[in-house]
Amino acid sequence: MLPNNHSNPSDFIRETIADDLKSGKNESRVHTRFPPEPNGYLHIGHAKSICLNFEIARENKGLCNLRFDDTNPVTEEAEYVEAIRKDVEWLGFQWDNECYASDYFEQLYDYAVRLIKNGKAYVCDLSPEEVREQRGTLTEPGKESPYRNRPADENFLLFERMRAGEFASGSRTLRAKIDMSSGNMNMRDPVIYRIQHASHHRTGDKWCIYPMYDFAHCVSDSIEGITHSLCSLEFEDHRPLYDWFLDELGIHHPQQIEFARLNITNTVLSKRKLIKLVEEGHVTGWDDPRMPTLSGLRRRGYTPEAIRNFCGRIGIAKRNSTVDMALLEYCIREELNKAAPRYMAVLNPLKIVIENYPADLIEEIDAVNNPEDEKMGIRKVPFSREVYIERDDFMEDPPKKFFRLAPGREVRLRYAYYITCTDVIKDGNGEITELRCTYDPATKGGDSPDGRKVKSTLHWVSAPKSLEAEVRLYDHLFSVSEPGDDFVSQLNPDSLITLASCRIEPALEKIFRCQFERLGYFCLDKIDSSLKNKPVFNRIVTLKDAWAKIQKTGG
Ligand code: ATP
Ligand code: MG
Repeated sequence: MLPNNHSNPSDFIRETIADDLKSGKNESRVHTRFPPEPNGYLHIGHAKSICLNFEIARENKGLCNLRFDDTNPVTEEAEYVEAIRKDVEWLGFQWDNECYASDYFEQLYDYAVRLIKNGKAYVCDLSPEEVREQRGTLTEPGKESPYRNRPADENFLLFERMRAGEFASGSRTLRAKIDMSSGNMNMRDPVIYRIQHASHHRTGDKWCIYPMYDFAHCVSDSIEGITHSLCSLEFEDHRPLYDWFLDELGIHHPQQIEFARLNITNTVLSKRKLIKLVEEGHVTGWDDPRMPTLSGLRRRGYTPEAIRNFCGRIGIAKRNSTVDMALLEYCIREELNKAAPRYMAVLNPLKIVIENYPADLIEEIDAVNNPEDEKMGIRKVPFSREVYIERDDFMEDPPKKFFRLAPGREVRLRYAYYITCTDVIKDGNGEITELRCTYDPATKGGDSPDGRKVKSTLHWVSAPKSLEAEVRLYDHLFSVSEPGDDFVSQLNPDSLITLASCRIEPALEKIFRCQFERLGYFCLDKIDSSLKNKPVFNRIVTLKDAWAKIQKTGG
C-alpha cells in the first residue's frame, strides 16, 4: 500500500473499530475487504469504498482482501476481473489476498446442506414469479410456501438433485426458513440458491446452482476471517439476514457496518446505468474520458492522488448525499497547479505576420515552466515572423471591455514581444484569414524599457515551429445535476468538443500532463495519439475554480 497524502479524520466506522480493538474483539485484529461484483468497470463510488477499506486496514496494521463477488454467471466476465485488478492497483492499493466467492462454492453448498439438516432451509417448487407474488407487502404479511414444511431428508435429496442438473433453470429454489410475516421483507424466506444452467467465467459448467448474494456474501466474509464488513447503506435492511445466516451456521461472525453511497452531480454512479451508456454507444467505451469510471478518469488525466484526496475530503457519513462535481475538479486542479508544467497551445489558430521581423530568423525565447515552482526552471520556445494566436483573442470591432488584440492596438505576446496590429486580411467571404502586425524589438522578454503598459498578454506559438494537434474539451456528461431514470435523455450534447487543428509548442511532443496557459489542464491521450499519428490532448479541467465559488456563496 502507498503512503497516504492526507490523514483521514475519524468517522463513526473508525471509532467503532477503535473501540473493538480496545475491547479485544476479534483478537484485536482488523481485516477488511473490497468486494466488487465483476459485472462492470469500477467507478469513483467504488473508489470511496476502496479507500475506506484499504486505508482502515493500513491504519490498524490489518489486512484487506480484494474479493470478487462472482456468484452470477450471466452478467460476469473475466474482462471485468482484469479491469478491476488494474484499477485498484492504479489507485495505489495492494490487496493482501485475492479471493473469489466462486472458490467457496463447495463450502457454500455444505453450509446450505447444514441449514437444510437443521430444518432452516427448504427446497421450494414455486416459480420465481410465484415466490414474488407470495412475499406480501410492507403492510401485509407474505404467504407461506406449500413446500415450507418438507422434511429435511426430502429437502436434502432434492437439493442434491438440483446440483446434479436434474431440473430446469428457475424451476426450484432453496429458501431459508425464517418468517413470512417479518416486518423486514428480506427475512421472508429469502431464496438462497437458484438453478441456472449457465457457464461461469471461472468454474465453467461445474455448477448449475448458484448462491444468492445475501447468502454468499456473509459466508465469504466469515470464511476469510473478515472482522468488519463495510458496505453501502442499501444493505442496512439486509443486516438482520447477514446476522441470521452466520448465527444459524455458528461460524465466525464479522460485523456489517453501512455507510452512505457516493453520488456526484451531473453524472451517474451505477454500473447498470454506465453499461447502458457503453452498450448504446452514447460514449466511446468504459474508459471514455467523460465517464466517472476509474478508467475514464485515468484517461481524462486524473491522478490517483487526486482521487484519494477527494475520497478523504468527502468523509464517511451515515446519510446519503450528493457531492458537487466541482469538488472533484478542485482536487485535481489543486494538485496540478503545483505540479504541472506550463506550455502554450493555440486551440483556434489565427495567423499573425510580423512584418518588421526578419523572415528567416527563429529566436529561442525563455519561458517559465511553472510560476508556482521555481525549481521547475525555464524552457526555450521558438519565436518567428509568423505566429498563431487564438481567434478569440482578436476582435476587429471590439466592445469596451475587450482588452485583447484589435486594429491599431498593442498587446504582449507572453515572454516574447509587444506587437501592434496594423492590418486585417480577409477572404472572399469576409472571413479573417490573417493579421499583419509590427513588433517592438526593445520589448524582448515581454517588458518595455520605457515603461509603456499593455492591457493584455496573449499566448501564442510559432507557425513554422509548432505541431498540429487534436484537443478535446470535455464538459459534464449530463446537463442536469441529478440525472433521473430517463438519464439517457439528459445527456449533455456539448459534453465533448473536438478541435482537430490546434497548434502546440514543439516541446509538448514529449509531455503527458500539463497546463496550457490560459486554457486549462490537459493530458495526452496515448491511445488516440498513436491511432491518429499526432498528439491528441484531453482537457482534464478548466482553470476556473467553480468550487471556491460554491463555498463562498454557500451553495
Ligand atoms: P453499482 O450499483 O454501481 O452496480 P454495486 O454496489 O452493485 O454498484 P459492487 O461491485 O457490488 O457494485 O460494489 C462493490 C463495493 O463497492 C460494495 O461494497 C459497494 O457497497 C461499494 N460501492 C458501490 N458503489 C458505491 C458508491 N457509489 N459509493 C460508495 N460505495 C460504493
Ligand atoms: Mg452489487
